Amino acid sequence: MGQQLYFDNYTPVGDIIVIAICMVMIVLVATSYVNKTKNFSLFLNMIFYLVSASMCDIIYHDWYVHITDGDYIGVYVTRVIYHALLFSILLLYIVYIVEIQHLEKHKRIPIMIAATTIYLAVIITDIVTTAKGMGLRLNKNGTAITGINIFMIGYIAFIGEIAYLMIVYRDRIYKKVMYGFYGTMIVSFVILYLQGKHGQSSFTVSTFLFPVMAMLYLVHSTSYDIESGAVNVMAMKELIKYNYDKKKEFLFMSLYMPDFESEGKAISPDLQATIRRFAGEFFKQSVLFQISNGHVILVAPKNLNPDHENRLNKILNQFQIEYLKFQFDYKVIIGKSIEEISKKNEYISFIKNIHRNMDINDVYIVGEKDVDLFNRYEYILEQLTDIYKKRDLRDERVLAYCQPVFNIKTGRYDTAEALMRLNLPDIGMVFPDQFIPVAEEHGFIHVLTEIILTKTCDAIKSLMSEGYDVNRISVNVSVMELRDEKFTSDIDDIIEASAIPNDKIAVEITESRNDSDFLLMKDSIEELRRRGIKLYLDDFGTGYSNMERIMELPFDIIKFDRSLVIASDADERSEKMVKSLAGMFSELNYSVLYEGVENDGDEIRCINMSASYLQGYKYSKPIPIADLNRFFAKSDVL
Ligand code: C2E
Ligand code: CA
Ligand code: CA
Repeated sequence: MGQQLYFDNYTPVGDIIVIAICMVMIVLVATSYVNKTKNFSLFLNMIFYLVSASMCDIIYHDWYVHITDGDYIGVYVTRVIYHALLFSILLLYIVYIVEIQHLEKHKRIPIMIAATTIYLAVIITDIVTTAKGMGLRLNKNGTAITGINIFMIGYIAFIGEIAYLMIVYRDRIYKKVMYGFYGTMIVSFVILYLQGKHGQSSFTVSTFLFPVMAMLYLVHSTSYDIESGAVNVMAMKELIKYNYDKKKEFLFMSLYMPDFESEGKAISPDLQATIRRFAGEFFKQSVLFQISNGHVILVAPKNLNPDHENRLNKILNQFQIEYLKFQFDYKVIIGKSIEEISKKNEYISFIKNIHRNMDINDVYIVGEKDVDLFNRYEYILEQLTDIYKKRDLRDERVLAYCQPVFNIKTGRYDTAEALMRLNLPDIGMVFPDQFIPVAEEHGFIHVLTEIILTKTCDAIKSLMSEGYDVNRISVNVSVMELRDEKFTSDIDDIIEASAIPNDKIAVEITESRNDSDFLLMKDSIEELRRRGIKLYLDDFGTGYSNMERIMELPFDIIKFDRSLVIASDADERSEKMVKSLAGMFSELNYSVLYEGVENDGDEIRCINMSASYLQGYKYSKPIPIADLNRFFAKSDVL
């Protein structure tokens, strides 16, 4: 009698709703940016099976009601197909989960064999039992007799396997995504239970729908920034992978606006609108990715944009016009997909590496040699990471070079500046401009400072033991290092370990821009000073110098940057300015050191501008620190 009820109570509402929701999902997928991972096609197939199953469900119930001659064969067949479609969804669900969990082959195979076995077994059994009259039987008088419920058995077997997968390998997926799947499955069970309790069957397909909705939301959806129309970084990685797998070439255009990057300034609605328009107007099927606050990348398929050269020119002309209007600093990079970079899926760091080497307010077209440079950069980064992890204070890859400094008062070389180089196994010598910014960005700089300081202390110690007169050697320190509370004690420990006096070491620091750094700097500098370490203000004249602040800090030496030496040669006014600045510092008891003294003219000018120390190619290029004995004199010469 239960079966009778179950047939009579059926209404097509549940199935119609399923079809409608599937249509809504298709509309959303078509208008949103979806992550086209490999399993996205599984998702689309599931939608197709859901719609088909709902239709079969509607059809066979409808048939059953309208048949009068007792020939129910069509109903039986459609019902078997209906079950097969539902089991297909469960089978795909297992494939999908295995896929997103990235199960290794040896774990994947037994799971897929079990799933396929259940799948075939239940479908065949369903056909056989229906044909032999052991399953559902429909009678001429319109009554139905319950037989063996193969569907329920198959369903339970499948759910068992899915639960096994989702529990045993739950750690393979981000927790909250996993909870999303658990949650929707629980809703499905509750609905199935409630409909059974009420002798209903109209909502069976809908319980298969919920987990598929979860997939769209949790795995494939990527939201647009509704103002700029951009999507986020992860989606870009997915798109590149998809293009690489399908061997599709694409074009990319990167716009970087450092003003918005560093200060977190908001992009004005006007500029937003312009970026949005740029993204849509010039290329077909282009997608705009928001990498960070001040960085967007546009990706467009090459084959749909055959006239891309023309379009690029147009976009650049337009860009110049917009630039005049908005006046923000920018770096634009344009290129075509490069197999090597696609394979590694590293366009963002590839582009960032080009940023490092290009001028501001410039447009750069990517070429072959950028790939070589990027590979070099990656190698350097890898080596720096290793140097950082090993933290061997005498690491052979870090070389201490130095430049002797001429002391005007004594007429001798008795101080020097330590300068770092790397000597890496595969590529040899690397200069500071190629690795200091990388080390700073990745937080490796302090370990490098510790290594240079150790080697400098070693050199001072051996020079002194050989009887050389060493006043001191200065070591460069990055402002960000001062933020670490342990900075001063780290420096102190290294000097102490080498047993040289603290005042044989000086620390060179460049001016910082912001207030919080200034305060930290002040603390560290005063602490270094208390310990007897000398302090140099590096690169004076390159930033916007704040005299008041400089004088709040206990510097011993002000290093005038090479740009001031050059400026003083350009015209009389500039010379007067540099001269009076230097005069003011020396009156305030600072010593003035000029950097980048290259010839006799520079030397004479600098001496006339209150110089105490001179440093530059005129005296020596940087040399290995062990060669410093060629410049320093022995005390007994005095
Ligand atoms: P800096 O501190 O201003 O160092 C002076 C730079 O000017 C050195 O470049 C030096 O070789 C170069 N130089 C010296 N004399 C002359 C000259 O007469 N004319 C010209 N045109 N240049 C001259 P280098 O060694 O390539 O270092 C570049 C920068 O890298 C340094 O600038 C410094 O900011 C940074 N750096 C170097 N070693 C270290 C280090 O151990 N730690 C940190 N944090 N930064 C370092
Ligand atoms: Ca320096
Ligand atoms: Ca400098």
